Amino acid sequence: MSEWLQCVTCGHRYDANEIRYTCDHDGGLLSVERDHIIDRDAFDDRRSSRAPIDQSGVWRFREGVLNVDKAVTHPEGGTRLYERNGLLFKHEGENPTGSFKDRGMTVAVTQAVRLGATAVACASTGNTSASLAAYAAQAGLRAIVFVPAGKISSGKLAQTLAYGATCLAIRGDFDAAMRLVREACERFGIYLVNSINPFRIEGQKTIIWELLQDLDWEAPDWIVVPAGNLGNTSAFGKALREAHAAGWIARMPRLASIQACGANPFFRSFTEGFAKRHVVTAETIATAIRIGDPVSHDKAVAAIRDTNGIVEEVTDDELMAAKRTIDGMGLGCEPASATTLAGVEKLRAKGVMKDGERTVCVLTGHILKDPEANYRAENVIEIDATMDAVARALR
Ligand SMILES: [Zn+2]
Repeated sequence: MSEWLQCVTCGHRYDANEIRYTCDHDGGLLSVERDHIIDRDAFDDRRSSRAPIDQSGVWRFREGVLNVDKAVTHPEGGTRLYERNGLLFKHEGENPTGSFKDRGMTVAVTQAVRLGATAVACASTGNTSASLAAYAAQAGLRAIVFVPAGKISSGKLAQTLAYGATCLAIRGDFDAAMRLVREACERFGIYLVNSINPFRIEGQKTIIWELLQDLDWEAPDWIVVPAGNLGNTSAFGKALREAHAAGWIARMPRLASIQACGANPFFRSFTEGFAKRHVVTAETIATAIRIGDPVSHDKAVAAIRDTNGIVEEVTDDELMAAKRTIDGMGLGCEPASATTLAGVEKLRAKGVMKDGERTVCVLTGHILKDPEANYRAENVIEIDATMDAVARALR
């Protein structure tokens, strides 16, 4: 049983235990590939195990993720699937640090330890840094995060600092932080754990595998995901290709990747049949997907093509209205996650999605991740400390 790194552009293979993120020949992205097919029954059996590695919704699938006996695991995953108003919501905000990032980070930090790294770094809009900081703390590694100064939510920054990471607040946007961290990792021999790291993608695949397992391996019609740096879109495509090839599911669901209008390079490319790649100056209230030059573009194109998928965009008003709906169901999520419901509403209005189709929205982050987006002044009534004032206020 073996695993290797493979260039998604030219197919060249590299050793899986070599520190590298791109292909020497053409700069292409790398993906982790393996030559065995795994029996899904083993995954089902592990659901009743008490061992942390089996309880993890990532390492339960370890033969298809990274084949190890020992992992840096909280454990993570095991997030719930909620049915509300005829839609299903897989809430990845239920991960240990409150976002789906923990699924990729447990794998990348486990690999960092295996490779003998002493420091790990990432560029982040916030959720990745919080996750990296937590897993690095557990593993005893130094964590360095590159964030756009003044552009990440207070909840995410607080988490990152509390777990003890060194935070470099870059005077620039996420894309500038991303360019800088790649160069810094190269120069200082730090292990890079952005989603350009192929092991992150391996962990994120388990969102889909766990979801399919939740559905007794009956594939839904649609899986809807927020789209920023395109790590999830890429991971979901790979997860579905592998699940279908291994015979775990009988048919492919369709992927719907939803961007914010102010950060929509992938949507623009989609509308032109992916003829060219776009870069935009990103601006949206959904900070987690405020990304203008998504690093996983090429893999995400394959994901959309292989699943007969679609890319849509929604405005900040549309995604915030959808957030109010999700919050109002008692689920709650950060703004970026709400692009899913906003996207479903738009695609149903266009007739692309139909009533009665089984549709799963993946909520990527917890409601407390972005405290500023939750404040609703209209729900606050300041009064004198008298019963008369209470009575007037509640009238
Ligand atoms: Zn290549």
